[in-house]
Amino acid sequence: MSALTIDSDRPRLRWSMLQLFNYHHLHLVSRCTRSRKACSFSGTMVKRKRNAVEGEGGSTPRSARVSKKAKLVEDVGITAVQIEKVGVKVSSTKSKRKVEASAQDVIDLSSFPERVSSEWKVGAHVSAAGGVENAVLNAAKIGANAFALFVKSQRKWSSPPLTESSISSFKSRMKELSYDSKFVLPHGSYLINLGNPDAEKREKSYECFLDDLRRCDALGLELYNFHPGSTLGIVDPSVSMTHIADCINRSHRDTPGSRVVTVLENMAGSGNIIGSDFAHLGEIISQVELKSRVGVCLDTCHMFAAGYDIRTKDGWNVTVESFDTHIGLEYLRGMHLNDSKTACGSKKDRHDNIGVGHLSIQTFAHILADPRMQNIPLILETPSHEGSNKNWDVWVKEIAVLNHLSSSSTLAASSSDEVSERMYFGSLTQGIKDTIKAAGTTGGGTASRGGNTVKRGRRKVYEEQEEESE
Ligand SMILES: [Zn+2]
Ligand SMILES: [Zn+2]
Repeated sequence: MSALTIDSDRPRLRWSMLQLFNYHHLHLVSRCTRSRKACSFSGTMVKRKRNAVEGEGGSTPRSARVSKKAKLVEDVGITAVQIEKVGVKVSSTKSKRKVEASAQDVIDLSSFPERVSSEWKVGAHVSAAGGVENAVLNAAKIGANAFALFVKSQRKWSSPPLTESSISSFKSRMKELSYDSKFVLPHGSYLINLGNPDAEKREKSYECFLDDLRRCDALGLELYNFHPGSTLGIVDPSVSMTHIADCINRSHRDTPGSRVVTVLENMAGSGNIIGSDFAHLGEIISQVELKSRVGVCLDTCHMFAAGYDIRTKDGWNVTVESFDTHIGLEYLRGMHLNDSKTACGSKKDRHDNIGVGHLSIQTFAHILADPRMQNIPLILETPSHEGSNKNWDVWVKEIAVLNHLSSSSTLAASSSDEVSERMYFGSLTQGIKDTIKAAGTTGGGTASRGGNTVKRGRRKVYEEQEEESE
């Protein structure tokens, strides 16, 4: 668990294994070793080391709610647990349970970063390559409490429907890994432009949008995040905003009984893109009939690029107040936590790793100290710098740092010593920089998000992944 250890002199995160052991069926398995891409829960076994159950260095107070099965692991000192499923042979003795299975069918949970039991739902936009069900596993692998995914190819108008087995596997993994659908924020196709003034093209976008919504519904999800759209420079923004609201209303009518909330994302504001101004999002929502099915996702990089200076605590509070005035905090359903490669007001959508860009780690420290941001998905869309081993070490580190900030916010806030505070934030940022550097030297370098891996040259600067396409 060294990846999660921050600084030994910092307050320790109260890592809890509750999440990982709070399974109805503690079964986990697949062909998902680091050298393999495809994952399948064909078998059912969890292998976990004793020290992992006890948390960091054994000093973490053990939750009283640890499941009986986890307790069993401790009591008998077994190294693997197999829960009533077919495909794996088990023999047990009173003191030890021996599990027989081929190595490739076992996921070693001790290689998963621990997930923190917290009101802060930090995660990342993970790959769904090989099937949406793999996104759940990929989220757990990086210690995410929340995650985002594409429910189909984000750059194609149509994709094959989700298979029954994919849907059931997604749902069972959600349950097994204790993920709540409230903290899963699927991202819509980049091609969709509900504000397109051309009726025929808008219809095509609408069909793609509706298909996304139905996929979310089939997966038992509750949120669906999408980019509002663009005027394409042809019409006044107000015309596009009405088109967007009309499409949202139509989608709600076309999915009766669905609880999926259509979540508008704030944008950086390049070109003719709608949604960089909170007032625009508020205007669209005012035209939506079914208010319970509309919300907003706030992207920190986009906010900053659009001119909202959130670097100071005061600036952050003014921005949140502006959000409340123009939209309403009750509509906030999630956040994208990204640093920005470009300056405030640049209108450029260029994501950077946490603490490395213009926002700096202090921005995230005050966001992760604001209780209004609790219990909503907080999703990283930062460059992963993953190498060929796909270990996503950078996301693991970023998530650990963000969780650390959330757990030590009171201490940081009470610190009056400017120098030590600067050193503290400096060391956290350096930790992320070191992880990026290590990933770049060991992996060869790719920047990816959501399965959209783009090979770049070794040591090259990584560009952000999301695009404000028109
Ligand atoms: Zn987006
Ligand atoms: Zn972006």
